[in-house]
Amino acid sequence: MKKIITLLILAVIIFTGCGKKEKISRYDEIVNRDYLIAGVKTDSKPFGYISSVTNKPEGFDIDVARYIAQDILGSERKIKFVSVTPNTKIEALTSGEVDLIIATMSITPQRALLIDFSLPYYIAGQSALVKENSNIHTFSDLKDKTTIVVLGSTAEKNIRRIIPMAKIIGYKNYEEAFNAFLNGEADAISTDDTILSGFLLDHKGYRMLKNKITKEAYAVGIRKSDDEEDDKLKRNVNIIITRMQKDGTLKELKKKWNLK
Ligand code: GLU
Repeated sequence: MKKIITLLILAVIIFTGCGKKEKISRYDEIVNRDYLIAGVKTDSKPFGYISSVTNKPEGFDIDVARYIAQDILGSERKIKFVSVTPNTKIEALTSGEVDLIIATMSITPQRALLIDFSLPYYIAGQSALVKENSNIHTFSDLKDKTTIVVLGSTAEKNIRRIIPMAKIIGYKNYEEAFNAFLNGEADAISTDDTILSGFLLDHKGYRMLKNKITKEAYAVGIRKSDDEEDDKLKRNVNIIITRMQKDGTLKELKKKWNLK
């Protein structure tokens, strides 16, 4: 009997010990896999879009993602991009499909309940685009007008809250939203000034409203974990962003992508 109990205790020790050893942090998982999986935008110039020249994702967020890959894995090419939209990005992260979200994503208290955020790396603001000759000049002029938004974006929530009278048409991504706007389906389209200025680079006859109704702090989205060890990824991403801030990389990227 004594022998059996000793064996049982031993088995439990070995079993739990092995269990602990097998659990590796998301950070180490990336290192073992030898490439990073980043959820990025592919329709939001100049932050994440498909270049018509290279047919590959490019933009400010793409450069941030490559910098992180370079830091963790020693090569900015050790990265796989997964295209996300405002409505799919949280799920892509929580399901484990991607390691990080770097996709014009603003920190919000609601999102912070579901995922973790790194330190912010860019501050944008919500504005709106209208036709050049439109009589819309401020956000309050939108109250009896139709505005396009992308579903799941902060812009959608803000417009519904700030101008409850406005008629809203929601699309699932920016490609569809801008096409609808170009087709004259609405009087305005509202989102971050960054994405709107990307559209203005390629389209004449439109203007952006002067006022911004929010501050959108872009940060890297990281899966939540209550495990100390699993926080390694968040700790490292924060160190990397702090370095990008200090060594002038973020400033250079703003210049490269014509951002203020
Ligand atoms: N920054 C805003 C957000 O996180 C808008 C950009 C977007 O729709 O991706 O919702």
